[in-house]
Amino acid sequence: MKKTTGSNPAITSKWRPATQAVRAGTWRSEHGETSEALFLTSGYSYDSAEEVAARFAGDAVGMQYSRFRNPTVDMLQSRIAAMEGAEACLAQASGMAAMTSSLLCMLSAGDHVVAGRAAFGSCRWILDNVLNRFGITHTAIDGTDNAAWEAAVQPNTKVFFFETPANPTMDLVDLEFVCGLARSKNIKTVVDNAFATPALQRPLDFGADIVAYSATKLMDGQGRVMAGAVCGSKEWIEEKLSPFQRNTGPICAPFNAWVVMKGLETLPLRATTQSANALQIATFLENRGLSVRHPGLASHPQHALAKKQMNAAGPIFAFEAPGEGDAAREKGMALCNALELIDISNNIGDSKTLVCHPATTTHHNMGPEGRASAGIGDGMLRINVGLEDPLDLIEDLEQALDKTGI
Ligand SMILES: *Cc1c(COP(=O)(O)O)cnc(C)c1O
Repeated sequence: MKKTTGSNPAITSKWRPATQAVRAGTWRSEHGETSEALFLTSGYSYDSAEEVAARFAGDAVGMQYSRFRNPTVDMLQSRIAAMEGAEACLAQASGMAAMTSSLLCMLSAGDHVVAGRAAFGSCRWILDNVLNRFGITHTAIDGTDNAAWEAAVQPNTKVFFFETPANPTMDLVDLEFVCGLARSKNIKTVVDNAFATPALQRPLDFGADIVAYSATKLMDGQGRVMAGAVCGSKEWIEEKLSPFQRNTGPICAPFNAWVVMKGLETLPLRATTQSANALQIATFLENRGLSVRHPGLASHPQHALAKKQMNAAGPIFAFEAPGEGDAAREKGMALCNALELIDISNNIGDSKTLVCHPATTTHHNMGPEGRASAGIGDGMLRINVGLEDPLDLIEDLEQALDKTGI
C-alpha cells in the first residue's frame, strides 16, 4: 500500500467536512489509483506461516479474512469516522444490522431501554420482539418531551435509543439535553442519525455515545445498495462491537462499501441542495394552505432547536392531505396517484423525489392507535426531495393538487 494523507486520522480529523468526504480513509495500492480500489476478496495469502500466525495471535496487523477486515470496507469506515468526528466506525450489512448490533452490544438480561416512540418500524420491532425475549424491557415515550425522558428512567435503565428527526413526523429530540441527562445517570445514548447524516447533524458533538446509520439512505444517496454503520469510542468499538461482529457476521459487503464511499464524496453537496429544495417545496405547500411539518419552516414547533443542532433541516418532510379518517386517506392516496414526475416509493435519501403514504405502508403495522399516538395522520404524506429542479417538482405537485381538488 502506498502512503496517502487520507489514511492518517491525525491529518484527516483536521480537514473540513467537504475534504473529509472526498479524501478521508483513502489508501492507495502500489498502482497509485486515484479512485479507491474495490477489493472483492474473501481471503488473503501470506508470505510465511509465521506471518499468518502473528496476525492470528494479534502480534501483527493485516488482513485475515473479510468477515474480520477488508481494505475497501476499512476505507469506508475511516471516512465515516472522520466525517462524524468519531474515534472509530464499523460498517454493517444494513441499517437494521447496525441498530441490532449496537443494542445487543450494550444490553444484557434485566436491563431497560427508554426509546423515542416515533421510531423506524423495524427499530420498534427489535425492542418489542427480540430484546423482550431476552429479558430486556423498554418504555416508549414522546421524544420531544424532555421531562418524559427523565420520568421514564428506572434504576436498570442502560440505554436511551432515538432518532432525530423522526420518521415521518419530523419531530426532533433535544440532543444536548437528552445526551446530558443520560451522561448524568450513566446511561448510554444510541442515536439513529439516518435522516440527517454527519453532513447535517453530528450527535457526538452534543454528547451522544453511539451514532448508528442506515447508509442505504442519504449516504449512498442514489438508491443503489444496502449498508449500515456504527460510530463510537475506540474502546467500545474494539472491545464490544468488533468481536460481536466478527463472530456473528452482519458485515458490509466490499462492493456495497465501495458504492457508499463514492456516495460520501458528494454527500455534503447533496444534503445541502436537497435540504434547500425541500424547504422551497415545503414553503410552496404551506403557502397553499396545507399543514406541513418540516423543521426548516418557522411554523415547526422545534424550528429553533433545528437551527441549534442541525446545519440544514434535511430532504424529508411530511404534509397532510385535508380531511379526517378514510376521506383523508383517499385524498392522500389520490394525490400520490396524480403525480407524474414524483415517484411513489417508501425509500428515502435518494436523489430522486419520492412520496409515500406512511399509514398504509411504512407505519401500517403500528395500527390506528399507535399511529394516532405518534402523530401520524390518515392523510399524511412523506416526501423525500431529490436533486431535480425544484420548479419542476412544484409544477408536478401543483397539477396533482389541482386534479385532486386539494
Ligand atoms: C431506513 C432506516 C433504517 C433501516 O435501515 P436499512 O438500511 O433499511 O436496514 C433505520 N432507521 C431509519 C431512521 C431509517 O430511515
